[in-house]
Amino acid sequence: MRHLITTKDFSKDEVLELFKEASEYLDEKPRNTLKGKSITTIFFENSTRTLSSFETAAKRLDAKVLRLDVSRSSSSKGETLFDTAAILDTMSPSAIVVRHQHAGVPASLASYMHCPVLNGGDGKHAHPTQALLDLFTIMKAFKNEVENKTIIIVGDIKNSRVAASNIELLSRFGLKIILVAPPHFMPNVKLEKTYKLKEAIDQADIIMSLRTQTERHQKQMYGSLKDYANDFCITKELIKDKKVIILHPGPVHRNIDISDEVLADPRSLVLKQVKHGVAIRMAALRKLILENE
Ligand code: ASP
Repeated sequence: MRHLITTKDFSKDEVLELFKEASEYLDEKPRNTLKGKSITTIFFENSTRTLSSFETAAKRLDAKVLRLDVSRSSSSKGETLFDTAAILDTMSPSAIVVRHQHAGVPASLASYMHCPVLNGGDGKHAHPTQALLDLFTIMKAFKNEVENKTIIIVGDIKNSRVAASNIELLSRFGLKIILVAPPHFMPNVKLEKTYKLKEAIDQADIIMSLRTQTERHQKQMYGSLKDYANDFCITKELIKDKKVIILHPGPVHRNIDISDEVLADPRSLVLKQVKHGVAIRMAALRKLILENE
């Protein structure tokens, strides 16, 4: 059984195939590719984009969606996750999409289920469909010529599963990655690092801004969000008329991560990322469900 737990689960060729298929889905037409299939979503952590995106993707392919309301499920009565998984498994879903605050839960769940498990984000570990849609957006913007393009990832990189998944996937596709963060948000990885945003922007073809992951901080990590924004907010003053694209996985902290003005600028592809996310998740659901049959 194949699952999508991290971006490493798909080879480079498979990613390119997935992108080809996702490009077709950008027409937003309904299809009956997954007619008769049922997809369960179970999100133990809040989500706006990822949950609605997976459910829209499933419905556009004509699958049925069962959303398990975790606050009302027996997990909140003390049932272990694995007993919950065993119950779900007896209902024979065609796939399950899970998000959890703890790293490793989707992988453990996968070993209990008789259907593909797709990771909708686990702790600081991974968010594979986000990285796939980010790379897809970058490839569209650069007409597939992404090798040696420079991306700067700015913000709370250490606590971000989006950064972790992007670092794996984008390196594999030959992008040059520069990490821009204060020391307490910098992960221990072998990549070029700086805290000087302006100098990094001078080198960037792509800027990926990330929000501060306050829910994963033990204590406040900076003087104030205003101080943080002074050093790391992407503003018009910094990007000027530079040819660059700007990405953010959302939720955006306006005027802390990216200024209002830059968000409204045509170089900001934040809403395009959301649109692309549905197409990517359609392709991933189709691939895992039908190829595992
Ligand atoms: N939505 C993304 C995630 O679930 C990014 C974020 O929350 O900052 O990881």
